[in-house]
Amino acid sequence: MNDLSKVNKLTLIGMGLINSSLARALQVNNFAREVIGTSRSSSTRNRVRELKIVDEVVDDYKLAVNDADLIIVGIPVSSYFNVFKEIGPHLKKGSIVTDVGSVKKSTIKDVMSVIPNNVSFIPGHPIAGTENSGPDSGFAELFKDGLCILTPFLDSHKPSVDIVSEMWRGVGMKVDIMTADHHDIVLAITSHIPHMIAYSIVGTVSSLEERLKKEVTKYAASGFKDFTRIAASDPIMWRDIMLKNKTAILEMLNLFKSDLSILEKAIKDENEDFMEKLFTKTRIIRKEIIKKS
Ligand code: NAP
Repeated sequence: MNDLSKVNKLTLIGMGLINSSLARALQVNNFAREVIGTSRSSSTRNRVRELKIVDEVVDDYKLAVNDADLIIVGIPVSSYFNVFKEIGPHLKKGSIVTDVGSVKKSTIKDVMSVIPNNVSFIPGHPIAGTENSGPDSGFAELFKDGLCILTPFLDSHKPSVDIVSEMWRGVGMKVDIMTADHHDIVLAITSHIPHMIAYSIVGTVSSLEERLKKEVTKYAASGFKDFTRIAASDPIMWRDIMLKNKTAILEMLNLFKSDLSILEKAIKDENEDFMEKLFTKTRIIRKEIIKKS
């Protein structure tokens, strides 16, 4: 398969926030002639049938990949090895498999050990999401104006990279190509550590004595409230991300802890100048991010 007109059958494995959003977006742009959806539980599959966001819902992962040209896996990264092992023997020769998982180095290791050589695996990660899960939380505009990172490796099949890129562009994303190592470091600092801090600070509140906890809930201003939104993200997904990107997260965490100690010392020393400079610098970063988004 090497040109866009040949995506006859596209299969979505997992129908949660990301893949159900993709299903909705694909309905709008007609990238594939037929879109198949499948999910682990009958309750999710039935809900996807009711939502009518794919052409057909198939009960079994193995049957769902049968004869598919392009397969997009949107399940927790800890389940990759078992799921790819299950579908591997049923993948069509020459088909393309991609994923949306938030960690890339471990993904390549887990997937490449169990899929056949005649299938092209192009790892991907759309940088888009919310704290919600499941097929009802998806929406077609999720990817609009966002960025999708692809991490092809060694001799990844270039035409397959082009097809996967074309699909993401078709739903409104820009595509960036980088190594899996680089992806994992960048995401550790931009997404994984912020989630870790949010889980930790909201966890701290949950261990406060009852009276104080009530006060925090009552007076939660936007700062703490913003943390609670992030800390409401799916527990299984984030447990997996922390474990699967352990090395990069711990590396970035060391940097963060050292900067936090410097700020702690500045507060103790009443170092006004240091704080003013730091908070001015961070304000500029915020403005730059808003300008780009
Ligand atoms: P989600 O809404 O929780 O949906 C997860 C899907 O995976 C469901 O279809 C679920 O099936 C299936 N699943 C769960 N455990 C499984 C297992 N052990 N074996 C097979 N299938 C299983 O998740 P999501 O937010 O779409 O995330 C999917 C992937 O996208 C994750 O790898 C995540 O890292 C990545 N991602 C997420 C975001 C985000 O903001 N949420 C952003 C970018 C990338 P049932 O419902 O039938 O149980």
